Amino acid sequence: MYPARAIVDLAAIRNNIKVLKKAAHHAEVMAVVKADAYGHGIVPVAKAALEAGATWLGTAQASEALKLRAAGITPDQARILTWLHAPSAPYAELINADIDVSAANLGALDLIAEAARAAGKPAKVHVKVDTGLGRNGVMPHDLPEFAAKAAQYQNEGVMDVVGVWSHLAYADEIGHPTVARQLEVFDMDIETLRAAGLNPTVRHIANSAATLLNPEMHFDLVRPGLAIYGYSPVPTVKKPSDFGLIPAMTLEAELATVKHVPAGTGVSYAHKYHTPQATQLGIVPLGYADGIPRHASGSNEKPGAPVEVGEGEHRRLKTIAGRVCMDQFVLDLGPDATEQAGDTVTLFGPSDGVLDSETGELLPAAIRGNLPNAEDWASAAGTISYEIFTRLGNRIPRIYVNE
Ligand SMILES: *Cc1c(COP(=O)(O)O)cnc(C)c1O
Repeated sequence: MYPARAIVDLAAIRNNIKVLKKAAHHAEVMAVVKADAYGHGIVPVAKAALEAGATWLGTAQASEALKLRAAGITPDQARILTWLHAPSAPYAELINADIDVSAANLGALDLIAEAARAAGKPAKVHVKVDTGLGRNGVMPHDLPEFAAKAAQYQNEGVMDVVGVWSHLAYADEIGHPTVARQLEVFDMDIETLRAAGLNPTVRHIANSAATLLNPEMHFDLVRPGLAIYGYSPVPTVKKPSDFGLIPAMTLEAELATVKHVPAGTGVSYAHKYHTPQATQLGIVPLGYADGIPRHASGSNEKPGAPVEVGEGEHRRLKTIAGRVCMDQFVLDLGPDATEQAGDTVTLFGPSDGVLDSETGELLPAAIRGNLPNAEDWASAAGTISYEIFTRLGNRIPRIYVNE
């Protein structure tokens, strides 16, 4: 009944996992399904990823990991790691559900040990080390003390330190000096843990970019997110098809209204756009409450994000006219438009993009003239494709095809 939908092609998800599995060689693949699988829907995406050969699932939040187990994904089907915990984390519940937990500070080790005693079984712990991202993780100078305590708990039988892991600051910039530096620190950190008597056998540091571009970073397990959803982690260097990736989501809406207006009509709040001629306006029933970025608004000076309207030979791109509102935005369909209320418009979909042969930059859909993708929306809104998917609101139904 909602006048818009996000169609998620699970065959594309399976294809993309296979591409990543091949790129990862001997390393296992963890499908990163945090943030509701980047807005695609955590349970269907996780199941499709496992079917295609992923053996691990990763989430930022404990609640997301528990949701996977609650949906019937058993420890035989997938190991699950969850990594971003405040002291309030439900560690006992996670341990009981056979979910691996990350620890990034001494306080977390104490809480995990306490929860494991209560649960009556050891926690499986991955030590998160900060090798240079400057975000969560144990700093090298704090690691000896952390490792000693973890070893003490391991000897006590309340935890198994199964993994050590980190995250890169510049994975998407091939050859950036910090990448080599982080790798050195990672190796030293692994030595520090070993010196304390720990033997973490699951070492992991690679996101999508490092999985696809940097075999040195694969270790035992890779953690791709974006590429699972079919987008290039280096959009200005390679497009999805250069890797064999297929964008999985199509976001479409039904026009709520189409109406004739005279030249000079001010459109939407604050009239940032005035119709240059007598024309027809189409009202699209999606707005910033649905995750359509307000920064994707358009004016007469600066076109907004692109939308494909029309069918067959009438297919063409229009850009958002005027401000994006909470529940809706407006397109100037042109004087001769034949669209009617109820017709479908596509905000973005499985389009590959085209790299400009001279500059190597991704050509906007408005210039290349085909279906926009989330990358086009990201550039129109001054952000990255990740933010376009993850902000899509819950009220947009997700429809799954090729299950
Ligand atoms: C989100 C995330 C990933 C996946 O990153 P992509 O760039 O989407 O491949 C991997 N590891 C961690 C820790 C993350 O937070």
